[in-house]
Order: sequence, then structure tokens, then C-alpha cells
Amino acid sequence: MTARLGTARLGPGERYAALDSMGSQELDVVVVGGGVVGAGVALDAATRGLSVGLVEARDFASGTSSRSSKLIHGGLRYLEQLNFDLVREALQERSLLLQRIAPHLVRPVPFMFPLTHTGWERPYVGAGLVLYDSLGFSFGFTRGVPGHRHLSRRRALRLAPALRRTSFTGAVQYWDAQVDDARYVMTLLRTAATYGAHVASRAQVVGFLREGERVTGVRVCDLETGTELDVRARQVVNATGVWTDDIQELVGGRGQIHVNASKGVHLLVPRDRIHSLTGIILRTEKSVLFVIPWGRHWIIGTTDTAWTLDKAHPAASRTDIDYVLDHVNAVLSVPLTRDDVEGVYAGLRPLLRGESEQTSQLSREHVVAHPVPGLVMVAGGKFTTYRVMAADAVDAVAHGLDLRVPPSCTDRIPLAGAEGYQARWNSRNRLAESSGLHVARIEHLLQRYGSMIDEVLVLIEADPSLARPLTGADDYLRAEIVYAATHEGARHLNDVLTRRTHISIETFHRGLAVAEEAAELLAGPLGWDAEQVKREVEYYTKRVEAERASQEQDTDQEADAIQMGAPEIVPVAAPEGRSL
Ligand SMILES: Cc1cc2nc3c(=O)[nH]c(=O)nc-3n(C[C@H](O)[C@H](O)[C@H](O)COP(=O)(O)OP(=O)(O)OC[C@H]3O[C@@H](n4cnc5c(N)ncnc54)[C@H](O)[C@@H]3O)c2cc1C
Repeated sequence: MTARLGTARLGPGERYAALDSMGSQELDVVVVGGGVVGAGVALDAATRGLSVGLVEARDFASGTSSRSSKLIHGGLRYLEQLNFDLVREALQERSLLLQRIAPHLVRPVPFMFPLTHTGWERPYVGAGLVLYDSLGFSFGFTRGVPGHRHLSRRRALRLAPALRRTSFTGAVQYWDAQVDDARYVMTLLRTAATYGAHVASRAQVVGFLREGERVTGVRVCDLETGTELDVRARQVVNATGVWTDDIQELVGGRGQIHVNASKGVHLLVPRDRIHSLTGIILRTEKSVLFVIPWGRHWIIGTTDTAWTLDKAHPAASRTDIDYVLDHVNAVLSVPLTRDDVEGVYAGLRPLLRGESEQTSQLSREHVVAHPVPGLVMVAGGKFTTYRVMAADAVDAVAHGLDLRVPPSCTDRIPLAGAEGYQARWNSRNRLAESSGLHVARIEHLLQRYGSMIDEVLVLIEADPSLARPLTGADDYLRAEIVYAATHEGARHLNDVLTRRTHISIETFHRGLAVAEEAAELLAGPLGWDAEQVKREVEYYTKRVEAERASQEQDTDQEADAIQMGAPEIVPVAAPEGRSL
């Protein structure tokens, strides 16, 4: 079996090489922030032929981009607000991601909208969905998902027996798409690195380089070693989401873009707690609540409240959890309780500051600005439209460079693992036979790695013990933990349990039962000694304990205070030749 050649790895060696490269040349562009927008900018710029660096302060996607509802959608809500351009743009992106850019990572998902009024509601919702379905055609592609259909109450109950009969009068079912958000961002970065971008996590921008008024680069602290380096670049892109204003403060002066944070909390419950063959979307007084199928689980959310506390670890309070449970229980015949909740996560929406005090009313659209020469800022938008945001930001970069820069071509650049995916999927039975893994495992691997599955299978071939599932999180193979460190930029246990896998929210033990086994597996590729393994497990345990305790608090302030008590950075021994 041969590994697919050509896709860049994001291993520990590659990280140091990237930092060295960034420190030793003047780049065309350096991107601050490794969420979906920053990663998208890096790919867009690299594929236009620019030299690119990207620095992320923590783990890739550790900000908002791993904490979303994980939907690639137009947003029915924006349709109701008559924001047709936004919906059309997002649905066109949905069709492109599903069919060309990331068919291994983006999948169709059905939702049922229970109707609660007789008379006007069915034609109203039906007309909206006719429009929603028709706005989805683009770029010569089909929509990529089935069209909507009307259901009587009886048929709806057959699809979703969990619904309380008296809670609705009938239903309409429609289709959207879903994605593993953190995995998508990491795959974007691997793709960008394949096209020559230098990317490094745990590399925080702590200042700006200036020549008079002009920004000429950034000062970066390598959080693994404590050393600082200057990265010179002709253009800097600030893609830091809810941290946009903090970065602007480092530059000095008033920025043109201001970003507010609005917190959204999601819960995970085991799939058997809600008997349904379809996702469900419910109207709430402020917005909507989704019940989204997620492997052997349901993701339920979300809330929408202003947040002004710690941005790195937004805390979910008891009040948030009760809000979500109360709203979903309004339609379930067997209500969920707090004991059914396996996992909880909170994220912060980067909302452009508007006139209104109500965060749900703030704009979801994005803005690109050039606040001082040499600096471009991009903020707002949503996960679904990251590619459009990135193209706009790189257009602004191009404007600031004295070069002829070609237009964006990312609509024709499949992400790492996309090319050859369909063929690998079609031969999954043969792959199961040759690897000795069950076909269900192969399917799981294909939907996470696409055609890069061969790289994981090579690890197993070399060490058959890696074919075993993790004890206590048997959806994942031991090989996936090793691969996360060697190829996917994971630096710490938390990166692997929270973002490369989602064990931290998919198990009642929240990853504690597998922490030691996973840390032992990471020790080899990351060069950890026994002390470091112990520290990683301790750090992870404290973080989980803090999260659990914060979820018992009534207010955001109390929940945040507890989260702030958990240690932030796991110290690591500096590799040879690097000072701490
Ligand atoms: C609850 C919720 C649900 C959502 N659901 C959906 C959905 O279903 N579909 C959808 O399309 N969108 C959804 N969104 C919106 C979407 O998730 C966000 O718009 C998107 O992830 C924002 O990405 P970003 O790259 O701008 O920000 P982020 O992902 O936050 O990235 C910014 C990065 O900058 C880094 N950074 C900060 N300071 C520094 C520094 N000094 N140096 C280096 N790096 C730094 C941070 O660590 C962070 O990783 C949702 C958002 C939330 C909160």
C-alpha cells in the first residue's frame, strides 16, 4: 500500500521549519489567526502565487471555528429577514463545498420543521423553502441536496416518533449540509501548506513591526519555547474573529471594524435519547434551535447572548443548559434531563458592531478594511462563507501590493483528501479486506481523511496495535491519535481530544477515561518524556473539571470565574537547539 504523496504534513518538524522560514524572509502576506477565515485567506493567497505565513496563538480552530453548529447552510432565518443575497451566496458555497471542494468532509443533512399553526403557516414555510431550494443552484452545479417535502402529522411522526403528538400540526422537511468544523479548518491549512504556505500553531502575535505609519510585519511569540521572532511581510491580515479589536489595540489607533461577541451553547446527547430519523429545527423567541444528527449523538443548540468575559474559554452556565433543554423538551414526548447530557460546548459569534443592543440583530455579513497601510482586517460572516471572505481579503491584500495578483481560484481547488475520494469510497469494501478493518471503520476514516486514508492505514500496517479502538472512546482508532500529531498539527492532548477528535464532548467521561492512553500515544511523535505525559493529563483533567464546575453555575460571571482558574498553557521542554 502506498501513501498518497504531495499533501503537506503539519508535524512538529514542519512547525519549526515554518517558523524558521517565516523569520528568515520578507513574505508577501502574513495572516494572524488560524480559524476558518485565516486558513481560508492563507489558501487563497498561496494559490494566487503569493508567499504566505499564518500564525495561530493556540491550536488551529480553537476559537469560534470549532464551536459552531457545524452546519453549511444558507440560514432560513436570514431568508425570513429578506436577506436574499446572503442566503444565495451561502447556498452557492454549500453546493460548491459539497460537490467539489470537500465532498469528504461536507455532507447533506435532513431537517424537519414542525408546524404549530393551521392555515397560514404551511404555505408561508413552503414558499420560503421553494425559494431556499432554488437559490441553491450555482456554478453549473446542482444543489447537492434533495428538495423539501411536505409531511402530514402522521408521516412526520413516522420519521420522528420522539415528537410529542400535540406539540405540532404537520411538518415540512428540507435538506442542508453539515461539517466537522475543526477538521475542516485543519484540512484547509494542510491544503494551504501543500501550496507553499508556512503555518504554525501556538505562535501568538504580541506586537506589530512598523516603518512610520506603515505596518511591516508582526512580532510573534513561540509559546512552545517562549522565544520571539519578527515576521516581516508586505501585508498583514488580521483574521482573529472575536479578538479583532484586541489586535487592533496592538496596532494602536481606532480600527474601522469593531467586533462584538455573542455566546452560543450546544449540548450533545446520545442518539438513542431522541428517536428520530431526521434533524429537527424549532423556532425560539429569538432565533431557532437545531437538533442535529452527529454520528452516534445529537447536537442541540443554540443560545444567543452577549458575552464580554474571557474569549479563550467561553463558559456555558447552568442557565444556558436549562434554556436548551427547556426548548427541546417543549416538543419531545420523553423529555431530556441534565443526566442525558454527554457534552457541552460554547462558542462566540464574531458580530460586526451595529447600532442595536440586541446581538441577534447584529449583521452576519462580513467586512474587509484597510485601517492603516500594510494591514487588512476581515471579520464577521459565517463558516459557510469563509471562502468568499478570504477572496475579498486577498483582493484587498493585492490592492496593497505593487504586483499583478491573479484573481481568486479557490472555487477550483479541492481540499486535501478530496481528490480521489469518490473512487476510494466506491472501493471501501476492498479497502476493508486489504486492511483487515471493518467496512464501517473504513467509512468512518474516509469521511474524516478522504483519500488521505492511506496515510492512516500505513501507520497501522507498521504497527498493528494502532488498529485497535481507544479504550473508552471506541469510535476512534489509536492510529488517529498518532496521525493527529504526525500530520495534523496537534501539539497537546487537549488538541486531540477536543478538535482532531471530539471525544471531549462525545463521551460522558468527557475524555478523562482515554486521556492517559492518548497521551502515551502522542509521546512518541511529539517527543514527550514521562513527566510531560503526566503534565498533559493533569492539565486536561483540570480543564474538564473546571468546565464541569462552571456548568453548575447560574450566571456567566460565576461560570467564567471557575474557567479562569484552570491552567492555560502546558509547559513543554524545548527541543534541542531551541531556548525556552
Ligand atoms: C454558537 C455558534 C454557532 C455557529 N454556527 C454556525 C453554523 O452552523 N454555520 C456557519 O456557517 N457558521 C456558524 N457560526 C459562525 C462561524 O462559526 C464563525 O463565523 C467562524 O467560525 C469565525 O471564524 P474566524 O476565523 O473569523 O474566527 P475564529 O475561529 O475565532 O479564529 C480566530 C483565531 O484567531 C486566533 N488569535 C487571536 N488572537 C491572536 C493572536 N494575537 N495571535 C495569533 N492568533 C490569534 C484565535 O486563537 C482564533 O483561533 C456559528 C458561531 C457560533 C458561535
